[in-house]
This record gives sequence, C-alpha cells and structure tokens, in this order.
Amino acid sequence: NDIRATKFDASKLFRLDGKVAVITGSGRGLGRAIAECYASVGATIILWDYDKPTEAASEISEKYGVNCVSVGCDVSNSKHVEETIEKISQQFNGKIDIFVANAGVAWQSGSILNSENLDDKNWHRVMNVDLNGVYYCCKNIGKVFKANNSGSLIITASMSGSIVNVPNYQAPYNAAKSACIHLAKSLAVEFTEFNARVNSISPGYLDTGLSDFLPIEIRSRWWSLIPMGREAFPEEIASAYLYLASNASTYTTGTNLVVDGGYSVV
Ligand code: ADP
Repeated sequence: NDIRATKFDASKLFRLDGKVAVITGSGRGLGRAIAECYASVGATIILWDYDKPTEAASEISEKYGVNCVSVGCDVSNSKHVEETIEKISQQFNGKIDIFVANAGVAWQSGSILNSENLDDKNWHRVMNVDLNGVYYCCKNIGKVFKANNSGSLIITASMSGSIVNVPNYQAPYNAAKSACIHLAKSLAVEFTEFNARVNSISPGYLDTGLSDFLPIEIRSRWWSLIPMGREAFPEEIASAYLYLASNASTYTTGTNLVVDGGYSVV
C-alpha cells in the first residue's frame, strides 16, 4: 500500500505521476476539467469523446507538459467501446490505472404521458448513453483492472440520481443516473476481488453550458434553491474526481460522493 510505504506526505498523495487515466466525454465541460485536473498532477491522459477531441488533447499536452492523446468513440456502441478500450490498453502496455465514465446526455424530456416528447425512441436514446454506455465501459475496463490487480473506476452520476428538482420532467435522465449510483456500488463489491475500486460522483448544478437549452426562468429558480446560491465551477467538481482517482482514497469504494453546494440536503 503506497500510503504506508513511506512517511505520511499528503502533498504526494494527490500526485498521479506515471498513472494512465481515461476520461469519456472529455472533449468539453466537466470531462475536460477532470482531464486538466489529472494532467496538472502528472497523469498521462486519454481524452475520449463522440468526436475525437484532437485539439483539446494538444492544448492539454502543451499546457501541462504531459502525454495527452485522444480517441473518438460513441459510448453507446458496445462493440466500438470494446475495441477502443482494447486499443488504448495495448498502446499503454495493458496499464490503465484510472477510468472515468463521464460521457452523458442531459435531456428535458417532457412529461412521460406526452408521447410527442417522450416516445420510446427518446427514452432509449438517453438510456443508451447514460446507462448502457456506462455499462459497456465498466465491463471492458474491469477486464483491464483485473489483469493489473488494481484500478480506480469513477462514474459520473448526478444529484438528480437521488433527488428530483421541481419543475422537472427529465425522468429518463434521472432514472439512468440513479441506476449509475447503484451500478457503482454493485461493481465496487465485485471489483474488490481484484483490488480495484469503484465510486460515483453526483455533481449538482454546473456552469458548463449543459443546461443552457433550458428556459432561464427554470434555471434561475433552481439556482435560488441552492444553499450556496450559485452553480459550481467545473474545477470545484473535478477536484473530487482527483480524490477518488488518487492514493488519498485507497479505502474508499462503493461511495456516491455528492458535490452539490448543499442542494440535496434542503
Ligand atoms: P457537462 O456539462 O456535464 O460536462 P457536457 O454535455 O458538456 O456535460 O459533456 C458531456 C460530454 O459527453 C460531451 O463532451 C459530449 O460530447 C460527450 N458525449 C455525449 N454523448 C456521448 C457519446 N454517446 N459518446 C461519447 N461521448 C459522448
């Protein structure tokens, strides 16, 4: 255990030198902030998005002086996810230390009773990315972690996986995120067999532009209900991902870390 091997030094606990980290949905927004956070403490980064985020990768390499490569893959395509993880694994000699299943789609679906908005096709569209896509990533990274007898898997859930904000109408998103929280717990227990950890993070409202499509009246009503009175900056959420990726959290598995400015406690 790295924590006990040396004299306790908290400044080293959060370093990721020599670690390889894959982050899905990292072309922009929260995923990109997580990538930058990990790069700033020395990790090798694989940026993964629907469209290959080539430009972001060279920006991160240049800014932090780390190796940062990019891949393009739709997480809802099971076969392509399998091939992509296999390819990354080969490229890094089987060594992937950290995997963040972060890609997702947020969607204000409208009432479940209104089939013009929420038909079966749209339900499955959200589930295919926000839940099935996470599952495809988990099962393939699990094989890599098992071979290495180590690893940290972090799933991006949402506070909407535990609570329902009003007005809402995003049942498929909420249901998928709720399932992600319990998927993380289930896999946490299973993955102890090979010394790997699995946790989820539930961000609250985030200032990344993801909710820009919503009417401003709805967004400002939500903000007024946040005890801290504002949305999070992506950096404030990304640092929670650093805790779960690093040696600071070697005894933390199966937890759902809520980072929401107090929203879900009132
Ligand atoms: P947030 O504000 O939480 O960061 P974003 O919508 O900005 O949310 O980020 C979600 C990321 O996930 C985006 O970069 C988006 O391109 C990516 N993404 C969405 N769907 C898929 C998918 N099917 N496969 C891979 N990446 C995806």
